[in-house]
Amino acid sequence: MRARSFFISTLKEAPADADIVSQQLMIRAGMIKKLAAGVYTYMPMGLRSLRKIENIIREEMNRAGAIELLLPMVQPAELWQESGRWEKYGPELLRFKDRHQRDFVIQPTSEEVITDFARQEIRSWRQLPVNLYQIQTKFRDERRPRFGVMRGREFTMKDGYSFDRDQQGALKSYDKMYAAYQRIFTRLGLTFRAVAADTGSIGGDRSHEFQVIADTGEDLIAYCPDSDFAANIELAPAPCVIEKREEPKEAMQKVPTPGREKCEAVVELLGRELTSSMKSVVLAAERFNEKGEAVEPQIVMILLRADHDLNEVKAGKLPELKDGFRFATDAEIIKAFGCKPGYLGPVGIKSDIVVYADLTAAKMSDFICGANEEGYHITGVNWGRDLPEPKVADLRNVVEGDASPDGKGTIRLQRGIEVGHVFYLGTKYSQALNATYLDENGKPQVLEMGCYGIGVSRLLGAAIEQGHDEQGIIWPESIAPFTTVICPMNYSKSEMVREAADKIYEDLKAAGVDVILDDREMRPGVMFAEWELIGVPHRIVVGERGLKNGEVEYAYRRTIKEKQMVKTEAIVDFI
Ligand code: ATP
Ligand code: MG
Ligand code: MG
Ligand code: MG
Repeated sequence: MRARSFFISTLKEAPADADIVSQQLMIRAGMIKKLAAGVYTYMPMGLRSLRKIENIIREEMNRAGAIELLLPMVQPAELWQESGRWEKYGPELLRFKDRHQRDFVIQPTSEEVITDFARQEIRSWRQLPVNLYQIQTKFRDERRPRFGVMRGREFTMKDGYSFDRDQQGALKSYDKMYAAYQRIFTRLGLTFRAVAADTGSIGGDRSHEFQVIADTGEDLIAYCPDSDFAANIELAPAPCVIEKREEPKEAMQKVPTPGREKCEAVVELLGRELTSSMKSVVLAAERFNEKGEAVEPQIVMILLRADHDLNEVKAGKLPELKDGFRFATDAEIIKAFGCKPGYLGPVGIKSDIVVYADLTAAKMSDFICGANEEGYHITGVNWGRDLPEPKVADLRNVVEGDASPDGKGTIRLQRGIEVGHVFYLGTKYSQALNATYLDENGKPQVLEMGCYGIGVSRLLGAAIEQGHDEQGIIWPESIAPFTTVICPMNYSKSEMVREAADKIYEDLKAAGVDVILDDREMRPGVMFAEWELIGVPHRIVVGERGLKNGEVEYAYRRTIKEKQMVKTEAIVDFI
């Protein structure tokens, strides 16, 4: 791109009504322009960054197996009446009538429309699981639109919806999205934290928000530096569905950890209930990496038709398989759970807890539990049975230094910007709209759902809240409108400069660098200030004096004052 053939429109001063730095800088850098409260034009410069964010999201959603579609923005009221949200949603929902006096809404989110789509399109268990997403304009008539794109009324959201056969599958889809979100926000170059969240008006009972850490954030997060505990305190969610165990196996067998106790409690309860009709043994677990981020859940072990002695198993001994019993094959496990088995050496030997259950009586989703010494954790034990619910911690009045609800340390508070939200929905919408599929026996079953949102346009503001200085924006490389700018001195007058700048420009383009050549012939100081405001990460200044030594000047936006001379022929490799 050459600056003359692009559209650059910067301002010296921010408008008086711009409250926070990202809003001021986006307006000054010519990224957005206000049309009405909470309604913005994305100018060409801003659109480039927005598209880059969208593409990263798209790549990671596709990589996680989700499929893109595009739903209408205008939606008939009937679907919202069917779900009950026509009454519940309140004034944030923009409603209007068409010429025939029929009621419509502009989508603030799309659970109804996607569920309607699914009840028509998904017929058989063979089509499941499926995860559909869109990147689309949303409208919410926010009570207080503010902070520019952070709380717009019209904004871009990635919203995705998973459909599964049962709860087990739905939770797996949820975990996949959770992992995809970790990758997305990491690739976007943001400092963020996943926190437990309330399920609000969307419903369901498992939910996490992804919060970009920033003092200007509207949310308050309580977290414990010594454990996994992190929650949005507006809501007081259940504190620890997940428990981490780090002890090596020897230590673990001697010292009961909370995770082990919980596991044993599960074994006790399930064991008492199910011993007589045991058909199988399942140990499922979710794996976490060293950073405590969830990676894909795995089935550690499954035995088909088994009547092992519970006490023996609890003692760590895996009984010999008797006649009529066998371990499930990988293919069977993949078929049953849709995910790969993760055997740990010889099956079961390293597993210290096994959960017995009856496949015929209970839904597989009634238990997901397990632990071993390799960083496996108990995850989301969901009863459906009258077993004790996890306690809900009331965090609303929490202050720094209070004990963390998991008892592992003290609470710290920090502000965050909610940029993503994953929900396990269960059958809330599929039940209301009667969205079913036929199982192997031809019996209709209600679809299990999850929904997953990302504030695409909000991310622009969040990234700037985290990356800026006195001169302007400091974009993460992955979403900068351009990654490199070439600033030639006397572009039209000096043939030497023009030739060198053009060559570097062509070479960078050929190397796949997203480069802009500033051929506008502005005064150097003004030109530099403008690119510093816009926040392009790499700047190359091409001038006669340097060229005579075979050099150009390079500066990195984050350390803009430290300039460095680089051999002209080496600059492309350098970048
Ligand atoms: P908030 O708590 O900030 O109002 P929300 O919980 O209402 O957000 P969700 O329904 O979870 O939002 O929507 C998914 C994502 O869409 C949010 O995580 C957020 O990043 C983004 N989002 C929500 N409202 C807005 C808005 N008014 N402007 C820009 N982005 C938004
Ligand atoms: Mg909201
Ligand atoms: Mg919220
Ligand atoms: Mg939310």
